[in-house]
Amino acid sequence: MSLIIRDVSKTYPNGVHALNSIHLEIPNGMFGLLGPNGAGKSSLMRTLATLQEPDTGTIEFNGFNLLREKMHLRSMLGYLPQEFDVYPKISAEDLLSYLAELKGVSSRRERQALVEHLLTVTNLYDVRKKAVAHYSGGMKQRFGIAQALIGQPKLIIVDEPTAGLDPEERVRFHNLLADIKDDVTVILSTHIVSDVSDLCQSFAIINKGEVLSNQTPQDALRGLRNKLWEKRIPRHASVELPLDRLVSMHLSMGDQIVRFYGEDLTALGAELTQPTLEDYYFITIKGLTL
Ligand code: ADP
Repeated sequence: MSLIIRDVSKTYPNGVHALNSIHLEIPNGMFGLLGPNGAGKSSLMRTLATLQEPDTGTIEFNGFNLLREKMHLRSMLGYLPQEFDVYPKISAEDLLSYLAELKGVSSRRERQALVEHLLTVTNLYDVRKKAVAHYSGGMKQRFGIAQALIGQPKLIIVDEPTAGLDPEERVRFHNLLADIKDDVTVILSTHIVSDVSDLCQSFAIINKGEVLSNQTPQDALRGLRNKLWEKRIPRHASVELPLDRLVSMHLSMGDQIVRFYGEDLTALGAELTQPTLEDYYFITIKGLTL
C-alpha cells in the first residue's frame, strides 16, 4: 500500500464532524473517492495535501509520516483543488513556467521543455498564449492537471475534476488521467460514479465522514450478481414501491424505470438485470440490505 490513512478525524470549529475515524489503504494507481456533496471528500483531500491538520490519526505515504514531513510530501505532490482559481491575464505558457520555477525547476531550458510537454499532453499547446482566465471550463481543468503534473509527482490529488465539464471534455480529461504512470498514486474525488467505473482500479465510498465501502469495482459488481431487478412502470400508473428494496428511479421515454435490490423480486413484476457501479453506490449510500 502506498498511502495508509489510520483513524483520521476532523471536527470544524462550527461543530461539524467532517471526518470520523477514516481508515483507508490506497495502492498505487487510480483510486476513486466517491460520496455525495458534504460527505467529507474535500476535507480528506485537503488533509492529504497537508493543507489542514486532522484532530487525530496518522497518514503514511510510501513509508513516511505525511503529517510530520509536510515539506517532503509537498515536493512529491500534485494537487488540483476543487476551486481552482488561476491568475487572470497570464498566458498558460507563462503561468506553467512560473509554477515550474516555484516547484524547483530552475533551469530555463528544462522549464521550457517541461512546459511544452505539459501543454502538449493536455492538448493546450495551440492556446498556450491565451490567458488562462479566458479558458473554457474544460480547458481550465486541463490546465489544472498540467500544473498538478509539474515535478513528476508521486501523489496526485484531484478534487471533483469533472463537475461542470461537457461529455467531450470529460473523455479528454479521463484519457489524460489514464496516461499517468502506474507507480503514481492518483486520488480522484468525485460524486460522479462513471468517473470511477471508467478510470479506477479501486475505490471507496464515504458519507457523513465515514468510509462505507472500500474495494475494486469488479468485486463490488460481483456482489450484486443476480440481485439487481428492473421494472418499467408506464407513465401515470400509480404503483406502490417497496422502499427497502428501491435502488433508483429514472425516466426513459416517459416511463419510469425502477431498479430494485433483492433475492427474488419476480413477484413485483421485475426482471433480473445487469448491476452497475451506480447501483452499488446507491445501495451503499442508502444502506439497503438483503
Ligand atoms: P465534500 O467534499 O464531500 O462535499 P466537504 O469535506 O467539503 O465534503 O464537507 C464535509 C462537511 O464539512 C460539510 O458538512 C461541510 O459543510 C463541512 N465543512 C467543510 N469545510 C468546512 C470549514 N472550513 N468549516 C466548517 N465546516 C466545513
